This record gives sequence, C-alpha cells and structure tokens, in this order.
Amino acid sequence: MSADNLKVNIKALSREERRRKFNEMGLPAYRETQLFSRICKGALGFDECREFSLKLREDLKERFSWEGARVELVQKSSDGTMKFLLEMPGGDKCEAVLMRYSYGNTLCISTQVGCRMGCSFCASTLGGLKRQLAGWEMLDELIACGRHSGLEISRVVLLGSGEPFDNYDELCEFLSLVHDPEGLNLSYRNITVSTCGLIPQMERFAEDFPQVNLAVSLHAASQEEREAIMPIAKVYPLSDLLKACRLHAERTGRRVSYEFALIEGKNDDEGTAKRLAALLKGSLCHVNLIPLNPVEETGLSGSGQRTASRFMRILEAEGIAVTLRRSLGRDIDAACGQLRNKHI
Ligand code: SAH
Repeated sequence: MSADNLKVNIKALSREERRRKFNEMGLPAYRETQLFSRICKGALGFDECREFSLKLREDLKERFSWEGARVELVQKSSDGTMKFLLEMPGGDKCEAVLMRYSYGNTLCISTQVGCRMGCSFCASTLGGLKRQLAGWEMLDELIACGRHSGLEISRVVLLGSGEPFDNYDELCEFLSLVHDPEGLNLSYRNITVSTCGLIPQMERFAEDFPQVNLAVSLHAASQEEREAIMPIAKVYPLSDLLKACRLHAERTGRRVSYEFALIEGKNDDEGTAKRLAALLKGSLCHVNLIPLNPVEETGLSGSGQRTASRFMRILEAEGIAVTLRRSLGRDIDAACGQLRNKHI
C-alpha cells in the first residue's frame, strides 16, 4: 500500500468536513471555497491550486490525497456523441455520455456501478449492483468529462447506469454540490433525474427538489406487460406509479417525462400506443419515445423508424406531448452499461 492510500482523499470530503479539517489546520474558511472552486474547474491536484502558496500546497499534499474520476477511454460517434469510460477511485468503471444538442451540451451520468433493478432490456443490470457512487463521484464524472472534452456542459441527466432513487442520499448530495454557486452553479431546472418507479423516493423528491425534472421509465402500457420486463413493477404497480406521477406534477407544477423504449414486436404495436394514450390522457406529462438500443445479451431489438413514427402519431392524435428521440451514439455502445460491460 502506498502512503497515498493511507491519506484522506480531499475530494471525498463534504464541504463541511473539509472546512472543519482546514479550520483544525488554522486555515480560514475561504481556503476551502478556493479549493472547491478549483476542484469544480477540473484541477488534477494541489499543484493546480495556484492561489495557494507552495508551502500550503506541500502541507496539504502531506495530509491528503487527490483522487477522482479518470477518463480511461473515449468513443466518439459520427453524430458527435461522446461516450466516456471512467475509472473511479478503487478501480471500478462507470460510464458517462455527452450529447450535443442545438440548445447545449448534455451529460448523462451514472449513479451506481451496475444496478440491481433487473430490467430485461438493460445492459447496466446484467452483473447486478457492484457499489453505490458517492455524490462527489457523480460530480466528478461531470468535471472529468468537461475537462477532457473542453466543452461546456449546461444540462445533466441522471440516465446512465444505476437507479438514482436506490442511492437517494448520495443523489441529494450530488444535486446540492452541482448546484452550489461556488462550484458549477448549475440550475436545478437543467437537471433531470430518471427512475424506474420507486414511489416512496418519488414522494420525498417532490419535497426535497421540486425544481429538478423527473423522468419515469414506463416502457409498457399495462401492469402485466410492465411486470414482464421490469421487476420493480411487482413492488410498485403501474396504477400506483401513475398516481404518484400525477401527484408529483401537481405538487411541483412541473410535467413528468415518461421514457418509453420501443422494443420490436413487444411494446410497439397500435394497441399499446392506444392504451398508453388512455393512461396518460389529461395529465401534465411528456412522452419520450426511443427505439431500444440493442443489447446483444438480451436478444431484443429496437423498433424501426416506421413503427416508431406510427406509435408517435397515435399518441399525438390523442393530444399527448411526445418526442421521438434519435437513438444517439448507436455505433459506440451508448446504451446504459454497454461500454462498461466490455471492460470489466
Ligand atoms: N434507473 C433509471 C435511470 C437509468 S436507465 C431508470 O430506470 O429510469 C436510463 C433509461 O434508459 C431508462 O429509461 C431505461 O429504461 C433506459 N434504457 C435502458 N436500457 C436501454 C436500451 N438498451 N435502449 C434504450 N433505453 C434503455
């Protein structure tokens, strides 16, 4: 074990803990602010904290290590999408995807290493849950990808590997960190959290972060069909989930997004589209359709363009707000968990 392994990782401390440690060292509070700001700007070590004297940098290096997400591999798609394989402290791998839209760059980050939700079409869950990511590590995904790409990231979606509401406290820590005016100062309205439907946490979330956008992965229009592809539906039935979504929209005044991955021959027929429209009619919502990104191990494929367009038109005809997403980054294994699976 190197001496560095015995030191406390400065980045892993909460702001409060860091202030306390700095205080014990006789440092004024603004030193922590400077350090946090440097961390958020992508500094790779104490040597990049140029407002610190050489002596202070050396003192800090004696006491603390500086570890974080390290970009191990980047794949660039012909459509501009970039997929990052990140190595986290301790050696675990996780993924983030940078998507370039006309309205700004959006980073999709992971909230867990692996996932234990067991959705049948998803690559992230194939090996189960390896470990939770800490809030600061989620922030570090953003910092590492921003530094590496040189691009400004104006939106964040928590749609990468993992179930954010299965890691609730660290999710909250991440949201506070990324919103911190002394750091990245990202507006809550530019953040979207996606869940497979953990109702108790959805209810807490409406209270804790009413300005953050909520997306719910639906993927089916009946309890039976949903249960067949998403085990969580057995714990929280579709009818309860839809009620919780309506309540969420009422409480926050913000529409809920529904994710619906179109799986060829499974959930992409006219009947499903009509049932979905009937379920959602009259609620403050938006449906995001996306042809499934094929994951070899699952044997499932995404619907073709014509089927997807027909599905969308049926929803539109019923007055449901709907977007058919392009499946970005198909050529770079951009579906949740696909890249990581090839490197573990
Ligand atoms: N656990 C959360 C967030 C991570 S998954 C959730 O379930 O919402 C992010 C989104 O990608 C979810 O909507 C998920 O259902 C979807 N997804 C997973 N695998 C996919 C695939 N192969 N193709 C398209 N979407 C997929």
